[in-house]
Amino acid sequence: MTHWLLPTDRQSLPQAATTNKDKVTFLKTEIKKPSYEVLCEAAELIKNGEVVAIPTETVYGLAADAYNPEACAKIFKAKGRPQDNPLIIHICDLDMLKNSVKDIPPLALTLAEHFWSGSLTMIFPKKDIVPDTTSGGLDTVAVRMPDNEDTLNLIKMCGVPLAAPSANLSGSPSPTTAQHVYADMNGRIPLIIDGGECKNGVESTVICFTDGGKGIKVLRPGVITAEMLSRFAKTETDKNVFAKPDENEKVISPGVKYKHYSPKADITIVETDSDEKLAEFLNDKNDGGTYGVIFGNETGIEIPTISYGNTAYEQAHNLFAVLRKTDELGAKRAYVRCPEKTGVGTAVYNRLLRAAAFKTIIL
Ligand code: AMP
Ligand code: MG
Repeated sequence: MTHWLLPTDRQSLPQAATTNKDKVTFLKTEIKKPSYEVLCEAAELIKNGEVVAIPTETVYGLAADAYNPEACAKIFKAKGRPQDNPLIIHICDLDMLKNSVKDIPPLALTLAEHFWSGSLTMIFPKKDIVPDTTSGGLDTVAVRMPDNEDTLNLIKMCGVPLAAPSANLSGSPSPTTAQHVYADMNGRIPLIIDGGECKNGVESTVICFTDGGKGIKVLRPGVITAEMLSRFAKTETDKNVFAKPDENEKVISPGVKYKHYSPKADITIVETDSDEKLAEFLNDKNDGGTYGVIFGNETGIEIPTISYGNTAYEQAHNLFAVLRKTDELGAKRAYVRCPEKTGVGTAVYNRLLRAAAFKTIIL
């Protein structure tokens, strides 16, 4: 990795125009392609306690200095995120891990060696240097090393981990392009680094350790699947990955409590093995405001459709962009064909269940 140093001449930085209790407003949100100068500008903003949108291989993130509680509070404000929903901190080397957390089980280092840089997030007991604002009041913190050269360089330039949730307004589909970020964050943050389309398209796999550090529990599925993790240790999947938590249930991962990933259109999952039944069902909804989100090779469908791909990887890559597209098209309702429920399909299914508030029709 290139080790870039900050230049001595300071950049002229965008200044916050107005602030109030709930929101910081910038006159202008700039979108810039990554370059040495742009990464310097981003690092300066972050060191000054501001929030910058960054590209990663999963989705775009809203990044701030993970050790600075006031800076992290701005992330929650910009997103409208509930304060008890903890942030993932992004590191560029294992020293940052050791500086931030304690009790790292040997299994975590094995997983780090195999999957980092990459879309695996691991949860550890936090050290005091990680403020409660960042961890949503928990005594644990989630950590990952993103697989994006520019973002790794930015973290190195900042010299601290970057706390970064997905760069969408809370509840909306996660952003997989700089334009998606702009649509949600224009006027709320000073800078978006435009690294192009995110490779994976869904957020990282989140795990915690069980059995004294010898076992793995998947709290949120991603492209690093439970099957892949089970090669290293006994791996179970938390029940809330595919279920709605009970009203007062104490969940391990606070994010599962909240409505998520939803466009304005009302989303319903349609589960079927039969193209004919799907076509018959959708053609019955021919009211102009209803769209079918399908794999793409189905025939006989007469209502407007959007394809999100045939393989689970394509579906993961396209899902959020397609959900945002339903809004651009002014859709009132969208029926989304259910993905496979194995492998990477579990990540797609997990996001869809929440986008659809668990509404499913089985044909
Ligand atoms: P996002 O920031 O939008 O990618 O969401 C982060 C996800 O990781 C949320 O579902 C959080 O609940 C989960 N998460 C982050 N930190 C922790 C933690 N310390 N313990 C359990 N889950 C966490
Ligand atoms: Mg999110």
